[in-house]
Amino acid sequence: MAVKCAVCESSIVESYEGICTQCGKEGKLNVCGSGHGICGACSDKAAFEHIRDVCLGSTSADPYEVFMQIVDDGRMRMHDFKHHVAVGSALLAAHRNAGTNIDLGFMLDEMRKRGSRIPPGSCGLMGNCGAAVSVGTFLSILTGTTPYSEDTWGDVNLATAQCLIQLALIGGPRCCKRNSFIALKVGARIAKEKFGSEMDIPDDPVCQMSKQNGECIQDRCPFYKG
Ligand SMILES: [Zn+2]
Ligand SMILES: [Zn+2]
Repeated sequence: MAVKCAVCESSIVESYEGICTQCGKEGKLNVCGSGHGICGACSDKAAFEHIRDVCLGSTSADPYEVFMQIVDDGRMRMHDFKHHVAVGSALLAAHRNAGTNIDLGFMLDEMRKRGSRIPPGSCGLMGNCGAAVSVGTFLSILTGTTPYSEDTWGDVNLATAQCLIQLALIGGPRCCKRNSFIALKVGARIAKEKFGSEMDIPDDPVCQMSKQNGECIQDRCPFYKG
């Protein structure tokens, strides 16, 4: 699946240096089939707004379903640091959709602010996969945890740790989809068990995206079915 343009339905067909048609700044542009040349910052902004819009409009209490609504639109690459925002956002939306009265708009903004600061490639470069940190961030936002918290401080760190253990045991190389699927399930389970969320715990999905992933580990991946 080709990545979609930030402002129209066309796919990105090339990339070159130029003036962004959105913000007017010079830089490397993603150029779509309709001729829009959009810089990285404007492309990221559009994708983050898309994540927010999908989550606010969603009705599913299954975080995997919300996540796939985000991904299926095509504004995120196969591997993309925006998964660090998408995982936690899908969990927040599923939690709201399960009947909890939360200020979802505020929490999604907070998720974007924090999740977008998790660096690209942090799995391999820092030993700290961003999809896992997204789950810790989700629970931190949900519980209002800060560095000074006592009761929930351990829970939010343990949530990230539990995701990291599961994805680490499978091994590399990277896959933002595999790690997101694992993180969503662990996040839903902890939110349910520890914090009484009524959201659904997603079943293991069958991955439909392995052909787009040049680094797919195939039979070593629990979601690969040929
Ligand atoms: Zn376009
Ligand atoms: Zn721009």
